[in-house]
Amino acid sequence: MLESTGEGTTTAAAGVLTLEKFGAESALIGREMADQYHRYNIDTEEVDDVDPLPHRFLVEVGKVGLAKFILSEVFHYGLKPDVILSRPCTYGVFSGPVGGFLPRPKLCVGCLRCTVQHPDFVKVLPNPDLLALGDKYTTHGHITAIDEESKKGMVPVRGQGYRGRFGGPGFDGMLTDMSEIVRPSRDGIHGRELIGTSVDIGTKPMHLSFDSDGNIVGKTPDMFTIKVPFVFDIPPGDLGTQRLAEVLNSTCKRIDTLACMNASDVLDWGLDAPHIVPVVSSPSPETAASFPKARLIELDAWNKQAFELLRSSTEALVGVRINFTDGWQETMMKAVNNRADVIHLNADLHGRGGDGRFVSDLLKEAHMLLIEKGCRDMVTLIGAGGIVSADHLPKAIISGLDAVALDLPVLFALQGRSHGSLQTRDGVKGTLPRKMTNDWAEQRLTNLCGSWRDQLLEILGAMGIREVRRLRGEFGRSMIVTHLEDEAFEGIEGYVSGGAA
Ligand code: SF4
Repeated sequence: MLESTGEGTTTAAAGVLTLEKFGAESALIGREMADQYHRYNIDTEEVDDVDPLPHRFLVEVGKVGLAKFILSEVFHYGLKPDVILSRPCTYGVFSGPVGGFLPRPKLCVGCLRCTVQHPDFVKVLPNPDLLALGDKYTTHGHITAIDEESKKGMVPVRGQGYRGRFGGPGFDGMLTDMSEIVRPSRDGIHGRELIGTSVDIGTKPMHLSFDSDGNIVGKTPDMFTIKVPFVFDIPPGDLGTQRLAEVLNSTCKRIDTLACMNASDVLDWGLDAPHIVPVVSSPSPETAASFPKARLIELDAWNKQAFELLRSSTEALVGVRINFTDGWQETMMKAVNNRADVIHLNADLHGRGGDGRFVSDLLKEAHMLLIEKGCRDMVTLIGAGGIVSADHLPKAIISGLDAVALDLPVLFALQGRSHGSLQTRDGVKGTLPRKMTNDWAEQRLTNLCGSWRDQLLEILGAMGIREVRRLRGEFGRSMIVTHLEDEAFEGIEGYVSGGAA
């Protein structure tokens, strides 16, 4: 039997005290760390319209038929104007001061109850003014969705609420695989766990090397991180005004992302900042000194001499913009082999390359080419062209991008109107609302970013992917509708592959 000595008891008591003190100290440190932790969130807030889109439906009411109907209503319900003047619409279209004699079509949701009950005197038609917005790629549906997302900042599609197409051209031909309902799943969306949307901009070595003492030697990562996998591209066409540049500047600062702008505009408008990416065409030794705060400077096209000049005169990362025209693969590899940190690939605004292929196929080719050459992580791929919907963002990342560059969505988020081409960048012409204020515009763009980020979280959560970096090039998490159809119907008489597209 062991007997405790007085000394032993004292030592044990001191040990307990030390442990208690240690526990209290670690709890304090933990508390301080927890208090300092800031969970990234985009603060959305509903804002009013300053130039609303045309309403969705026209409601045409035959006055004679309506008068007869109201008479019969009086016969049934007596003189109750709020009842007899509002029917048959429960959405208030017929509830104005003179009822259906002056309907209020902006309240119509297109349920068609009125036309089904009274086909003899009510017609509900799509509004041609709304249908005329956009073009065959960026449709009035995309513009309406962007408008709604920028107004409310709400997630566009959650759960089984998707009302769009299952198949079609472009990004509609890609479905995302959400079959793995595992953690982080909903926990990541509702904040109990973290799903990361940060991405790294810059270059990383394909492996790290250490000396015999365990110190890192050789090339180390040269990059910075932004909180969302999208940046704002140079405003296309005539949209690049100082006003818009100021709004992009303040929005980027707020949500921690980047905006590409012509270098001359950055200089003229005094916008040099860490979140502004000046795009230069012919750099001089003084160019870099003009942008001391820039973390990334882009060259507007590959030119070895210009690239080396820029590289040697700046501490910032250097990127190269490359259009998907003939020979883009060779140009991209030349830029990567010369240590470009970022490649910014551009399709046209319909998402097509020079050979007519869609941008998702082109991005896959770029991603796979870099993997085959063993240098994928040495460069960041940013891509632009054809990204006009929240679901296009994860689909472009699945196709191989690190981050997406947004162009036309900015115009429609700010309730601007297009008067030119929506296919070629140079041909874009647009006007922004006269009543637009900078605060209003910043909140609209912030709402759009919040909405698209939330949609991304929904998709990552449904896939069980903990951060967007892991989505890059995950072709296996997508399904191509034409492939599925070929698998199911090939060999059946009359089936034409790709017919649905
Ligand atoms: S379609 Fe529906 S919402 Fe529109 S006016 Fe008729 S009843 Fe009202």
